[in-house]
Amino acid sequence: MKPSFFDLTFDDLKDLLKEKGFTQFGATQIFDWVYKKGEYEPMNWTNVARNTREFFATEYDTTLLKIVWNGLSKDGTRKFLVKMNDGQTVETVAIPARERLTLCVSSQIGCAVGCTFCHTATQGLKRHLKPSEVVGQFLAVQDFLKKTVGPDEKLTNIVYMGQGEPLHNYENMKKATLIFMSERGMNLGQRRITLSTSGLVPAIEKLAIDFPPVNIAISLHSARNDVRTELMPINKVYDLDRLFAAIKQIPLKAHRRITYEYLLAADMNDTMEDVIALGKLLNPKESKINLIPFNEYPGSKYRRPSEEKIMWFLDQMIKKGFTCTIRTTKGSDILAACGQLKSEFEKLNLWDKDKGPKLIPGIASSVLQNQNLP
Ligand code: SAH
Ligand code: SF4
Repeated sequence: MKPSFFDLTFDDLKDLLKEKGFTQFGATQIFDWVYKKGEYEPMNWTNVARNTREFFATEYDTTLLKIVWNGLSKDGTRKFLVKMNDGQTVETVAIPARERLTLCVSSQIGCAVGCTFCHTATQGLKRHLKPSEVVGQFLAVQDFLKKTVGPDEKLTNIVYMGQGEPLHNYENMKKATLIFMSERGMNLGQRRITLSTSGLVPAIEKLAIDFPPVNIAISLHSARNDVRTELMPINKVYDLDRLFAAIKQIPLKAHRRITYEYLLAADMNDTMEDVIALGKLLNPKESKINLIPFNEYPGSKYRRPSEEKIMWFLDQMIKKGFTCTIRTTKGSDILAACGQLKSEFEKLNLWDKDKGPKLIPGIASSVLQNQNLP
């Protein structure tokens, strides 16, 4: 199989051109063709030297990943099933919110972290996605939207909140981020990209040093070690003390405020004790809290709290001076939800090979809603 062009950062491309004896100036033109003009056929890069074009046409794969299924929710959320070259598929969800259109991309096939509330966890980690497969989700969806909705339909933001733990796939997600942010290419600003992590401490420490400065969201879910360990076994290894020692190293100037995602599960982490612990742990000036009412799925061991309880929790945090929001429900009619991924639905026999998810009345489903993120 040929290497993918979409694995190359701008610097990688320059190095490659140099190594092959081509002029490095070509890198700017090539990134412009691919990422600004959407021209994926090397022979059409007309202002690039012929031998360079021929090299990419014969030695590199520049085709887009295939979208094998897509669904449009009544509220405008679109879910896509994107096929990788080895036949594996991942989900990516485009979420409209005000003037934004945010793509929620996957970073791995499956996940090794094993959070007890997350459906993705049940399948374990199958493999990491390559930079080209992360960038590829974006390019495939962007191409689809241009062709089906209109030439002006543009993805504006990205959240790394699909399947997988992005910091477990550190180097590949770093490269993908460099490609998204390259001024010569897509030129997405650092405020338009949000990485969500379950709290892999060594990777957070490294992130502070050598990851492009994107927005950071931490999946906190509890400010009490015993409760957090029950929800997220990773807390046994990297508890709250270690997690916050690492978070303190993230330069706040670049990131402004850190977002803390807080899953709300009934009688688990939604009590007064939890409110008090959360208020003590976080600093309102440096944090934003995004409450995520638990999405139930067949066989899930937690329940979504009542609407009153959710509003009560929100109110308590606001009273403590926090910027606190609730992630709203979107895309429920197409099962475009965190933790509700295709493979698990296949297992549960709720996935139709041709039509996608089978709709089951009454299933609670909400999707990542970017409006609450930085
Ligand atoms: N692995 C990363 C990013 C992907 S998950 C992380 O854990 O942060 C994105 C968000 O969805 C996380 O905050 C996660 O806790 C949440 N999530 C997973 N399953 C969920 C469910 N069933 N209901 C509500 N939120 C869920
Ligand atoms: Fe992995 Fe995130 Fe799911 Fe935890 S919540 S199992 S880290 S995808």
